[in-house]
Amino acid sequence: MTKKILVTGGAGYIGSHTCIALHEAGYDIVVYDNLSNSSSEAINRVSRLIGQPIEFIEGDIRDAESLRQVFSAHKFFGVIHFAGLKAVGESVAKPLKYYDNNVSGTITLLEVMSEYDVKNLVFSSSATVYGDPETLPIDESSKRSCTNPYGQSKLTVEHILEDLAVSNTSWNLIPLRYFNPVGAHSSGQIGEDPNDIPNNLMPYISQVAVGKLAKLNIFGNDYPTVDGTGVRDFIHVTDLAQGHVAALNYLKDQSSSVGFLPINLGTGKGTSVVELVTAFSKVSGQDIPYQFTDRRAGDIASCYASADKAKSLLGWQAKLSINEMCQDSWRWQSMNPNGYKDKV
Ligand code: NAD
Ligand code: UDP
Repeated sequence: MTKKILVTGGAGYIGSHTCIALHEAGYDIVVYDNLSNSSSEAINRVSRLIGQPIEFIEGDIRDAESLRQVFSAHKFFGVIHFAGLKAVGESVAKPLKYYDNNVSGTITLLEVMSEYDVKNLVFSSSATVYGDPETLPIDESSKRSCTNPYGQSKLTVEHILEDLAVSNTSWNLIPLRYFNPVGAHSSGQIGEDPNDIPNNLMPYISQVAVGKLAKLNIFGNDYPTVDGTGVRDFIHVTDLAQGHVAALNYLKDQSSSVGFLPINLGTGKGTSVVELVTAFSKVSGQDIPYQFTDRRAGDIASCYASADKAKSLLGWQAKLSINEMCQDSWRWQSMNPNGYKDKV
């Protein structure tokens, strides 16, 4: 059986780390990315880390002809589909852009996969599909609802995948619902490289630590949590990458179709914003000035996964600690204060 995988969005933050994990697990990879939120320097560095060139095609998932050329040239076992836009705030301002890219783009990809009879898909979904959870930890059968266009685009794709699995039982469709990916490769060569001022907590903390930003605003200290600040399930991107390998290995071992199979990728543990800031400050030795401000619209108090399904079905569980997440984020940020613009 072919071990070749198409990785859409493979130049991005999670995709680049997953390319390394796939290579180490013996998969051949072809990366397809339009570089709308990434740099070809990430591909260069992944090539260097794995010691061989990566087959990279610059292309858009909405471009069916371009996808057909790729599927004609390669016999794929499956697709890991990272390609998508992910900024919640931007999605509120530009909903059509998000639905076009994330939903229409995925439909085009699924159509071309169908044409070439490639029926194995691992899709980047998100804990955001659970909205404000009624119970914690969140398991895969929890109610889904979203309040912003980014989340809706993920939930809509999940609904499309569910319908597709019903329409034709030969599909194997695994949406992996990521909790809060943070950290970077232990080499310090690849990591998260936001284009602008970061929206997410860990890159913001890292940029304060390295002196690019003056101070962290902590959005709310009156939540019903351990210290009043938001609680999240932070997961090291290397563990997350291994979760994708585990999902593919699982699909390779199946003798019958799995249909639509959503799986959480989280650690199962909640950490508060202040706890994360404290851990980061300790491992980096840097002062992280912060102030409490109003809650951010749309934020929830607490969110952490039940990671039982991933463990029982895929034999996967997260291994790396909060300290390791902070250490690796700091190594990446301090070695590359300007991200991929710093050539090393
Ligand atoms: P990222 O922006 O670093 O990576 C996404 C990649 O997809 C980028 O390289 C971008 O250039 C590419 N891309 C976007 N639109 C494309 C298109 N139309 N055609 C081809 N390539 C396209 O983001 P990431 O953090 O690596 O996230 C990967 C996936 O995981 C995304 O779908 C995201 O929504 C999802 N996700 C991310 C998080 C997170 O916190 N990082 C959490 C949950 C889910
Ligand atoms: N957060 C914060 N300041 C920031 C960014 C985030 O206090 O500059 C908080 C946010 O309110 C939430 C947590 O950090 O409680 C994680 O936010 P992030 O945007 O990283 O991920 P989310 O869980 O919202 O997807």
